[in-house]
Amino acid sequence: MKLLLNKTALITGASRGIGLAMAKKFAAHGANIAFTYMSSEEKAKALELELNSMGIKAKAYKSNAASFAESVALVEDVVKEFGGIDVLVNNAGITRDNLLLRMNEEQWDEVMENNLKSVFNLTKNACKTFLKQKGGSIINVTSIVGMKGQAGQTNYAASKAGIIGFTKSVADELGSRSIRCNAIAPGFISTDMTDALPEDTKQLYFKQIPMARFGSAEEVANVALFLASDLSTYVSGQVISVCGALNR
Ligand code: NAP
Repeated sequence: MKLLLNKTALITGASRGIGLAMAKKFAAHGANIAFTYMSSEEKAKALELELNSMGIKAKAYKSNAASFAESVALVEDVVKEFGGIDVLVNNAGITRDNLLLRMNEEQWDEVMENNLKSVFNLTKNACKTFLKQKGGSIINVTSIVGMKGQAGQTNYAASKAGIIGFTKSVADELGSRSIRCNAIAPGFISTDMTDALPEDTKQLYFKQIPMARFGSAEEVANVALFLASDLSTYVSGQVISVCGALNR
């Protein structure tokens, strides 16, 4: 059964990793896909082709989620091209890890702008469309690090904790308009982001995970599919962890 027929999803940061898995999963369930990237032009164009060959409409947009002006233009372009937006996934994110004593202002600001301000930028602009359409599903990608903290990631943890507060507040403000807002909190998922970790750090994390493995991007995409679809019409303001029992 296709769960997203006749829906349009806008996914930020889908040229790689979790966003890419979500784009493929949503397309397999019949959704039209607008997605963004920052620098991976080739990968984005290849994904655009692949998604279009699945019998849905897909388009890649080079758009910086951290820029309010680019987010305004993106939402306008997507609505013009696709006729509306039913699902917004705020997935784009970065790390700039360092111990607090060594972290500089630029590392702090970059993470807050790319991870947290980006969620404000896209949500605020897409909400106008959701209000007109009388409904919508917003899915924000946070992290278990935003709930439990992590040495070397004060900037990242703060940005992801901010996303949780934002998610619950949007659910409160817009619930009466049938606009749902939820967050997914992945644990350690195999993508470029975690591949970049030093091997000894990976082994340390690995030992902490009760399910004794990193998750896959597809396992996160499965939960996003649920939140995007009409299977979750009474689910809002929630944070769903996908972490192999790490966060208990
Ligand atoms: P990834 O493999 O590094 O991919 C990041 C994606 O975001 C890329 O498509 C990148 O585009 C895009 N991006 C980055 N900054 C952007 C911006 N300002 N505007 C638009 N696109 C931007 O990361 P991932 O592991 O898939 O992570 C995806 C999300 O899950 C992030 O929010 C991350 O914090 C969260 N998360 C990941 C894990 C994990 O273990 N992997 C765990 C918890 C939470 P380019 O390819 O063009 O650079």
